[in-house]
Amino acid sequence: MKSLKAQQSKLSNSTYELEVLEANTPTGFEETAFSQKLRGINLYPLKPTQIEILQINMGKMCNQVCKHCHVDAGPDRKEIMTQDVMQHCLDVIRQHDVKTVDLTGGAPEMNPNFRWFVTEIRKISQSVNIIVRCNLTIIVANPKYNDLPEFFKEHQIEVVSSLPYFTANKTDSQRGDGVFDKSIRALEMLNAVGYGVEGSGLTLNLVYNPSGAFMPAAQDALELEFKKRLKNGYNLVFNSLYTITNLPISRFLDYLINSGNYEAYMEKLISAFNPVAAANVMCRNTISVGWDGYLFDCDFNQMLDLKVAAEGSQHIADWNQAALTNREIIVKQHCYGCTAGAGSSCGGATS
Ligand code: SF4
Ligand code: SF4
Repeated sequence: MKSLKAQQSKLSNSTYELEVLEANTPTGFEETAFSQKLRGINLYPLKPTQIEILQINMGKMCNQVCKHCHVDAGPDRKEIMTQDVMQHCLDVIRQHDVKTVDLTGGAPEMNPNFRWFVTEIRKISQSVNIIVRCNLTIIVANPKYNDLPEFFKEHQIEVVSSLPYFTANKTDSQRGDGVFDKSIRALEMLNAVGYGVEGSGLTLNLVYNPSGAFMPAAQDALELEFKKRLKNGYNLVFNSLYTITNLPISRFLDYLINSGNYEAYMEKLISAFNPVAAANVMCRNTISVGWDGYLFDCDFNQMLDLKVAAEGSQHIADWNQAALTNREIIVKQHCYGCTAGAGSSCGGATS
């Protein structure tokens, strides 16, 4: 593959939009553009299958400041979902066939209305799968969060938590000093109430993402290794490990550019394009809701402020099921992160 030249233009709020062009070939953009790859396998324009998952960003506030964070979350972020927007989310969950509500952030638990919202979702349906993307350290960050494991259990929540590695040095270098030890304590508290324990019915899944400019190893093999090391080292158990590819946006994009790894990383993703993973990208059955109620094809498009291409239905208050189901999904170069190798989604590998 010819070398790629990254052109960046700085947008508002320090986000970058990147166009990848092949050096010295004016038509190169078409040849390498993600949409052209999809067209080559009859998937362009990319359309939803059906809307099953509502992924809700409850705010950008977080007790951590991880290096790879695509949300650019941290303690100083003020964006937080209001109860009014949550009420519109509840209306959609009540009126449409939403199978999974996936709560994310930032640290979703830091939203002052987090517990109210979860309780209201459970009142609507006993069967809807509620996922909380818990960063683990929030459980031990402050005594007011220490009872989160019991709260999760009471509301039959599926817990999905990032643990970049089973050693302190790799975890701390990505997520901050002391994060590994706090994560181990939080996992002990989750195991103590039954999370991850066989037969408990309480699901605890972990998420691995690479610490540098490379793609994750095979999910099954890594899961076995994580299970062995966490059991032997800390007597901890969990259900499944999801491997996730870092997408070249936000904080991880800054890292790629600053470390001189951007071009090589994009080449890796592009050359590993997998048609099966492309057919299974998560935006085909998910709608992502921003903290302010705007709708996006996925969490990544949300961070790039690419609102859904669904006329009259770009906000949760204006939800139009038909317009959203028939929309065209907005794809750009960052989408190569979802289609490389075994594929990547919020639920791990896709092929
Ligand atoms: S815990 Fe998650 S949301 Fe918070 S900074 Fe880290 S990656 Fe971002
Ligand atoms: S980045 Fe978003 S829009 Fe692009 S393929 Fe992945 S899930 Fe779909």
